[in-house]
Amino acid sequence: MRWEELVSEPEVLSNWIGGERRAPFGGQYLDDFEPATGELLARIPDSGSEDVELAVAAAADAFPEWSGRSLQERARCLERLADLVAERAETLAGIESADTGKPLALARQIDMARVEANLRFFAGAAQHWPTEAHDMGQQGLNYTRREPLGVVALITPWNLPLYLLSWKLAPALMTGNCVVAKPSELTPLSADALWDLANQAGIPPGVINLVHGSGTRCGQALVDHPAIKAISFTGGTQTGRTIATAAAPRLVKTSLELGGKNPALVFADADLDRTVAGLVRAGYTNQGQVCLCCSRILVDEDLKDALTQRLADAVSNLKVGDPNLVDTDQGALISADHQQKVLDYMDLAGEEGGRILCGGKALNPEGRCQQGYFVEPTLISDLPADSRLHFEEIFGPVVTVQSFASEDEGIALANSVDYGLAATVWTRDLATAHRVAGRVQAGLVWINGWLVRDLRTPFGGMKDSGLGREGGRWSLEFFTETKNIHLPSGF
Ligand code: NAP
Repeated sequence: MRWEELVSEPEVLSNWIGGERRAPFGGQYLDDFEPATGELLARIPDSGSEDVELAVAAAADAFPEWSGRSLQERARCLERLADLVAERAETLAGIESADTGKPLALARQIDMARVEANLRFFAGAAQHWPTEAHDMGQQGLNYTRREPLGVVALITPWNLPLYLLSWKLAPALMTGNCVVAKPSELTPLSADALWDLANQAGIPPGVINLVHGSGTRCGQALVDHPAIKAISFTGGTQTGRTIATAAAPRLVKTSLELGGKNPALVFADADLDRTVAGLVRAGYTNQGQVCLCCSRILVDEDLKDALTQRLADAVSNLKVGDPNLVDTDQGALISADHQQKVLDYMDLAGEEGGRILCGGKALNPEGRCQQGYFVEPTLISDLPADSRLHFEEIFGPVVTVQSFASEDEGIALANSVDYGLAATVWTRDLATAHRVAGRVQAGLVWINGWLVRDLRTPFGGMKDSGLGREGGRWSLEFFTETKNIHLPSGF
């Protein structure tokens, strides 16, 4: 089945407001390109404050009925939506792959599997979420309620479009909130498809609303809307700051999942086979466009040569090209601008005397993808210590290597950046693993692995990588207000 069968008007999308497709007030549209071919894929509403106003009003109208439903009723809606996502997984994966440039197999195995899992997980987790009571004996009993906030805004990036949107949507809905979502203007298609399915799943009109458009116009109007009670945002650190600044005067709750510059600390006793395989995944999955990607390898100087040689061989073997081909490991970067940004870093590496161990150039695959935004997976060593490549988030298939002479030096290098999202530690020694994991400044640490996810665990970053945590009860807490009620022991 082709994805056009799911999206009824693929070439011109609409907003979804109050359960209906709505054209934007201004009648203006933005272009959405297919990264693998550079061709126009769709046109999306260039929504502004009037569209946002309508969406927020629809959500506010829907809130009393939706928040009054039982957890079981809300869960049934999410489960039905999860069933539809599972039924249409192949179509949705096709949409996501076309819109992002990621390999179809990745969109199928990672993105769509996770969308379904997010919906089912929170449908269950919210029902098993206990409330608290504090017994005061003769003085009575306190019990704690968790109440929905009202209308909440969900703003998401382009790298894992539906994966991240559903990660916010499911807990927001299960806790009784109504939603206005704004996906990235670069990847609007899968959200449109999900909204269509949500209608079919019986999620009542107005409970979830979708506005398309640019971040600075549509996103900002959403953030500034006085009726928005919370903003759940995933994206770049600079945008996170803008949103936090706009939300602060109104004391609006924000959850900010931001950028990363994640280290992989490799010790001399690491299992080389396991480490090389792990570092290829951690460095280059989704063309290095995962916030958790480990783009800095910090390796014990005794292991550096052996590791870099093995790694360069493995990275050179990654197959870059048409995302639709089954043996493609790496697809296209998200946009021509982003491709240029990544190439600029490679130029800088050359100017600074860095050694390109593999990759280092743009790539034009044969056939339909010749005009796509491809970059070779790249590994760079011997950059100066203060190179910007060591500190700035490149968000592409570019990994740098630095060596350390001692554990202290390795940890100092790991912690030397402004970010603190994730880290990996590669060693056979359990004591080293625990010690280093404890000292590294990151919200998530994987030992001898990467991206092993348990949806119950806290997810988020330290320092410039964010504020707050998502996942399990952390998401449920974010989307609720806590109320304590005291009952005397006698009336
Ligand atoms: P971005 O430019 O910050 O955009 C993220 C979202 O915010 C998009 O929907 C964007 O809309 C919107 N936006 C931009 N300006 C806005 C404003 N003033 N008000 C409200 N919304 C606004 O990030 P991106 O380039 O899409 O994504 C890449 C970044 O996301 C990387 O830094 C990556 O590390 C981070 N990320 C973090 C996590 C995490 O969990 N920590 C996960 C994934 C990605 P437009 O697209 O229309 O501009």
